[in-house]
Amino acid sequence: MTEGTKAMAEVGSPKRTKDIIARYGFTFKKSLGQNFLIDQNILRKIVGAAELDESKGALEIGPGIGALTQQLAHTAAKVAAVEIDNRLIPILKEVFADTPNVHVEHGDVLKLDLDALIKERFAGLSGVSVVANLPYYVTTPIVMKLLEEKLPLEHIVVMIQKEVAQRMAAKPGGKDYGSLSIAVQYYCVPELVCIVPHTVFIPQPNVDSAVIKLTLRDKPAVEVEDEAHFFRTVQACFAQRRKTIANNLTAFVGKANRDQLGTLLGSCGIDPSRRGETLSLAEFAALSRALLEAGYNGNG
Ligand code: SAM
Repeated sequence: MTEGTKAMAEVGSPKRTKDIIARYGFTFKKSLGQNFLIDQNILRKIVGAAELDESKGALEIGPGIGALTQQLAHTAAKVAAVEIDNRLIPILKEVFADTPNVHVEHGDVLKLDLDALIKERFAGLSGVSVVANLPYYVTTPIVMKLLEEKLPLEHIVVMIQKEVAQRMAAKPGGKDYGSLSIAVQYYCVPELVCIVPHTVFIPQPNVDSAVIKLTLRDKPAVEVEDEAHFFRTVQACFAQRRKTIANNLTAFVGKANRDQLGTLLGSCGIDPSRRGETLSLAEFAALSRALLEAGYNGNG
């Protein structure tokens, strides 16, 4: 074993994590979703799923005390890690003082210009992926920001709450399938990498977790004329899950035009008595197009 691999063996170990926490007198903030990973196998699995090599960059969100960051630094050309908690910045700066391919950025990922950060930090590399153990209280806003801003990413490999991962990867027809599944699958191909028990974190969260890999598509899964309208249509169809599409869409077209809905849905080959959870992305795209053509923009 070389010195390098000996050092790697300690990365993310419970001892290293506890030592750092004790040395800095760090106290966890539940409000920032601080559950640190202490299982090296899971850390390796996350990094492995991201298909990184020495020509690629890794953008990490919420490095904590740097367990995942350290693994990423050994695998990717460069790592940029965005951390909101100013108490963690001096710790990260010290941990990575001798690791020049790690850049620590203090900030709220939801407010940062990530496109500019990617351009500045990863110029000249062959690809960039987001790799993170996300704070669960803001998982969906973070993932939606990454997707909606159309950042130049190859993969998003993230540890998130198990139920949210299942919703992102769900196929039509089940209870997990909803507007989050459609939004994610419009931009990406999802793959559940593994389910993770809550025992591999300190402190332990109350829920189980999962690692999900989202591979960005070259172009969206379906062609739509107006993206905002497509997503408004999806939202409207899921407004009340137990209601039929015809009932849910009544507000979208206005009560006075309800009779036209049956014809419009028929023209798309969609039975008005179906529920939103049974529609494929292609069917939502056809429905959005038909609503637009008929002059219903769903803006109220
Ligand atoms: N990566 C570390 C690990 O796996 O052990 C820590 C993961 S912990 C689940 C989430 C981290 O995200 C915490 O360090 C927390 O302070 C940070 N965080 C929370 N909200 C954030 C935000 N809006 N922007 C950037 N970092 C955030």
